[in-house]
Amino acid sequence: MEKLISGILKFKQENFNKDKELFRSLAKGQSPEVLFITCSDSRIDPNLITQTKPGELFIARNAGNFVPAHFTQSTSDMDATLEFAVSVLNVRHIVVCGHTDCGAIKGAIHPESVKHLHHVSNWLSNAAAAVARVKARNNGELGEAQVLELIEENVVQQLKHLETHPSVSAKLATCSLYLHGWVYDIGEGQIYCYEANQGRFVKVEQHYAHIIAKLNTHPCGCDSDDVAIAS
Ligand SMILES: [Zn+2]
Repeated sequence: MEKLISGILKFKQENFNKDKELFRSLAKGQSPEVLFITCSDSRIDPNLITQTKPGELFIARNAGNFVPAHFTQSTSDMDATLEFAVSVLNVRHIVVCGHTDCGAIKGAIHPESVKHLHHVSNWLSNAAAAVARVKARNNGELGEAQVLELIEENVVQQLKHLETHPSVSAKLATCSLYLHGWVYDIGEGQIYCYEANQGRFVKVEQHYAHIIAKLNTHPCGCDSDDVAIAS
């Protein structure tokens, strides 16, 4: 705990004092533009990899970055989180962000390794559709060679699960909500993004080239490639 306690003291003395105005305005409410759904894995820091501040991401985390499909007979924490984010906070974007070396996905590949863990085993059934698709594409094979493919397919299937939720579906029908599927490569520091029309993941620089082009404009109006991304 020493690290956490000394961190709190440092936060109070340095970060809070430096950004007092921000925290004062956040004390009155939040208006995040993005719901960020990712794995509980300790190696993922959504604010760090997107360089966002408190108040900018509404974050939902669980092992495997699963979004259980909407089911009328029960309510999950994700049902409530989605409904609140979409219908009350009016987020404009939902990101489902998986990651390399995901323990939940490895558990889905090797269910025998978690069979003594009742809740974990049940929870991993949220990957069932992704597992079935990857297996079918690989002639029934599912092993270490398919880990990345399953990590990516899992993100794609969770995007589909999102669409089963009425609050999400309604906003998608009016183009007032956009879904994004990402995979964070921990060792490379890269984000790969799902290109729905190509059915594959590409680097963030390629997927969001149109946004990056706008960021990369020199104040002088020249078209030099040697530019920094504006903050
Ligand atoms: Zn994970």
